[in-house]
Amino acid sequence: MFRRLKILALKCGFSHTGMLDVSTIRVRPEVRDACTADTCKAYNKTWSCPPGCGTLAECETKIRNYKTGILLQTTGKLEDSLDYEMMEQTGMEHGTNLDEFTKEIKKLYPSWGKQPLVIGAGACTRCVNCTYPGSPCRFPNDMRISMEALGMVISEVCKDNNLPYYYGPNTLTYTGCILFE
Ligand code: SF4
Repeated sequence: MFRRLKILALKCGFSHTGMLDVSTIRVRPEVRDACTADTCKAYNKTWSCPPGCGTLAECETKIRNYKTGILLQTTGKLEDSLDYEMMEQTGMEHGTNLDEFTKEIKKLYPSWGKQPLVIGAGACTRCVNCTYPGSPCRFPNDMRISMEALGMVISEVCKDNNLPYYYGPNTLTYTGCILFE
């Protein structure tokens, strides 16, 4: 099945993929604590980030509900280290790739016993304006929780699953994953 998912992921635009053994994921309070510094300007602004996404213990329970997933990366080639336009474009492409892949795997495996958990890079941007905190999430089964919000160190998760995280000078890689079984 993984081979089929990998082909599909590449077709959806991802640059690199790898199998994800969920038991390797370590959930770190210090990663969550860093969210409160709000350097990404998403803290307390969406259901996909703390505190809206739940406590770290609740997030870990969500993760441990799965055994297997797939790591998904979108790598952009920058002209130089100040190529912010390409950085932004690569981030948007990564989100689009993730939405497309999620849609396709739901079609391919409609009989999966549980909803896949979609984990992106950064806050969910599925809606132009997030409903947080006034109303419930519009798409609870498709929102993209960020890896950091779940307490994951992205480079560590990649390393523990034998997938590179860095692809050379003047590249930028966004990493996400989907837990599905
Ligand atoms: S799907 Fe929409 S409402 Fe839900 S977290 Fe994402 S942006 Fe917010």
